[in-house]
Amino acid sequence: MKNPFHIMIIPTLGCPGKCKYCWSSEEGSPVMTIDTVRDIVEWLKGFRKDRVTFTFHGGEPLLAGAEFYRKALPMLAGELSELTPDFAMQTNLWRMTPEIASVLAEYHVPLGSSIDGPEEITDSQRGEGYYQKCMKGYEIAKTAGLQVRFICTFTNKSVKHKEAIFTFFKERGFVLKLHPALPSLRSENPKEWALEPEEYGELLVFLLDKALDNLGKVEVMNINDLCRCVFTRRGSVCTYVDCMGSTFAIGPDGSIYPCYRFVGMSEWVMANVRDRPTMEQLMQSEPGKRMTAFSAYVNSACKDCSHIRYCRGGCPYNAIAPSGGSLEGVDPHCAAYKRIFDELNDRLNEEMYAEPPVGMNFGMPAAYKKRPGVMALMRSIVEK
Ligand code: SF4
Ligand code: SF4
Repeated sequence: MKNPFHIMIIPTLGCPGKCKYCWSSEEGSPVMTIDTVRDIVEWLKGFRKDRVTFTFHGGEPLLAGAEFYRKALPMLAGELSELTPDFAMQTNLWRMTPEIASVLAEYHVPLGSSIDGPEEITDSQRGEGYYQKCMKGYEIAKTAGLQVRFICTFTNKSVKHKEAIFTFFKERGFVLKLHPALPSLRSENPKEWALEPEEYGELLVFLLDKALDNLGKVEVMNINDLCRCVFTRRGSVCTYVDCMGSTFAIGPDGSIYPCYRFVGMSEWVMANVRDRPTMEQLMQSEPGKRMTAFSAYVNSACKDCSHIRYCRGGCPYNAIAPSGGSLEGVDPHCAAYKRIFDELNDRLNEEMYAEPPVGMNFGMPAAYKKRPGVMALMRSIVEK
């Protein structure tokens, strides 16, 4: 199963924030020029024919400024119209202005931002003042009619407050999408903030129960995605499919990487957009071969796992970036994936045998009456 075609554009690696578990550079780092956007357009003409999503990512993509988007968006949308581009952006919202918001609104760019829960928890991991600056940008984005969703990074510290974090998202009506803090490759103490796989697995089960207890009142995106995986037996987000060859990221200087997570690491440069590489050339580059080797490795390393079809060994960045590209294992979050996939499959099986037809549930065990099951959650996802 392949991912839809996805190009991540990283206009800069700079960021004004100082999140404690992040690897972005200082605010003044180089910004992509419009000439590089022109090169992206020329490269993609004839590269692939299927629908593409462009995600502006960072660093902090708003640092590129209104003028960049005023030129880049019509260029990408207009000159690549045969690819029917969709757009998205991942931003901390600090530098959102009414001017940028109106340019983004014209192209219906949904925004993903980051809030780690209540203000004191968010600021304890993302730095003093982060929350207020993000919320100020959120108000500007909302006023312009932009859709904003928040990613919540759970660290080994914030996971202790998971109840308060869930309540925060629920009370504000925010969709919850969680991201586990990864070991930092650029820190002397890489595991200082990282969420251990076992804790991550338990957190997913906790959120599954919360999603079921609050069915119709709050949405936990990861749980929806995981349910879709199990139900359809196919990966539904990049982590659970072979992303190689369908996702590429372009750094500020036009370098092409396998994903935004590798941007800035010279050993992961596949080519440059100004050279208009073909798919074959990209996949024959050293990083391309390392990514393909991961997929082949998963076929043997995970061959006895019942979840291989809709897990595919997890995220290759998590698996091979820390080892410099060598294949020493699958995604270290494997234990978390197994935990939640087992749980979902077990509950689905139990429900299939235990749940009586609708309208005939008089004799249903008390547990089922209290909490809707995974099938009910699946139905609500399908009905959306
Ligand atoms: S490397 Fe990981 S984060 Fe990047 S596209 Fe692949 S699965 Fe997604
Ligand atoms: S759960 Fe673990 S063993 Fe199973 S497919 Fe995923 S990474 Fe491989």
